[in-house]
Amino acid sequence: MNIHTIGGFGEVGKNMTAVHTGDDVIVFDMGLYLPPIVELEEREGVYNEKKLRTIGALPDDTVLDKLHLREKVRAILLGHAHLDHIGAIPYASYRYNADIVGTPFTTEVLKTLLRDNNSRISNNIRVIQPNSSYIVKGKKDYEVEFINITHSTLQTSLVALHTDEGVVLYANDFKLDNSPIVGKKPNYEAIKRISQKGVKALIVDSLYADDERKTPSEKIARGLLEDVLLTTRNSNSAIVVTTFSSHIARLKSIVDFGKQLGRKVVFVGRSLSKYVSSAMRVNLCPFEKDVTIASYKKQVHNILREADKSRKKYLIVCTGTQGEPGSILDRLSRNELPFSFNKDDHVIFSSRTIPTPVSINNRQQVEKRLKHKGVRIFDSVHVSGHAGREDLRDFIEMVKPEHIIPAHGDLQKMTAMVELASELGYKLGKNCHLVQDGQIVKL
Ligand SMILES: [Zn+2]
Repeated sequence: MNIHTIGGFGEVGKNMTAVHTGDDVIVFDMGLYLPPIVELEEREGVYNEKKLRTIGALPDDTVLDKLHLREKVRAILLGHAHLDHIGAIPYASYRYNADIVGTPFTTEVLKTLLRDNNSRISNNIRVIQPNSSYIVKGKKDYEVEFINITHSTLQTSLVALHTDEGVVLYANDFKLDNSPIVGKKPNYEAIKRISQKGVKALIVDSLYADDERKTPSEKIARGLLEDVLLTTRNSNSAIVVTTFSSHIARLKSIVDFGKQLGRKVVFVGRSLSKYVSSAMRVNLCPFEKDVTIASYKKQVHNILREADKSRKKYLIVCTGTQGEPGSILDRLSRNELPFSFNKDDHVIFSSRTIPTPVSINNRQQVEKRLKHKGVRIFDSVHVSGHAGREDLRDFIEMVKPEHIIPAHGDLQKMTAMVELASELGYKLGKNCHLVQDGQIVKL
């Protein structure tokens, strides 16, 4: 078996891994590397496959062409709906005569992306429920299991590919949350079952391998939000919350506390509308009847004008966690929309700033403008969706893989995973493999 580490092994983004076994290739994920796109959007606003390849935003899957493996790809399996895992599909999946497989929410978000990009792909999109199996047909048949796990978006799955040589387990991204606000807790029974069967290789999220703790549950983020929303002096203030648009569980907590405050909750911004309406279409939105969504210019202007008049009656949820130019929060801070901040209004960041120079700078600019208006800023009302080092330790001990391949990080993060693996008895170069984009792990 050869495992091709195509993207996401050296950066946080453009995740893509291909497993070559027998005469078949099976691909996990096909994502975008977002930082150069954020820069490009500021300058140009439009992009196509060629442009995205030039700036390094797509996984370099041409490595498969060189090895004559492209025509052997039988399926593209999607672990979850984040753009760094599915965002390259509209630009690159046409190159493969292979079905795309994912859970209802993941595939619904993908369909929305395709519609928004006006792109048509000829691949069949197969929908599979969490905690069930799919058969990939190649020269041989392969059972693929989508095992329910927790992360920061709906229906995230560990993907287990059963081969003659053992199971390849793709665990990218996840956390171990036993009290998720939406959805079920991790399916530990299934993890134990495949561990007993024998996991040949584990491809594992290393983003917080150097973070020496257990990542707190989403219920802790809910507690942080409750503290800020229900115990600070805010009855006369406007309240604006920004969070990741795909984080339906977090949005549910915000909506619940908004209702407790007696405020009308409005979601403002295109990407919020994109993810929330995807959740609604597959009957997975827990606050469908409790929110108003404004996406188009006219809707946005109308709702903000109304919220500006009756500031105590509304809780505004908007895009702009990273201060992205053109996001609703950015435009609010620049007085470009019919809503103005007053002294002591609240802006709550239920997020963290992604540590890239562009994001850090954008956020600083937005905060500077908000502070100038006397706005109170509540930062980092958030917990991560990625497993910390001690979750990873528990997880590896549960899975007991023969080989570990760290993924989803730069060299520093993946080195931390190698250290953790060595604490658990693995040896670098023997059964723990520190590899970069475009390499091959031969097992
Ligand atoms: Zn993710």
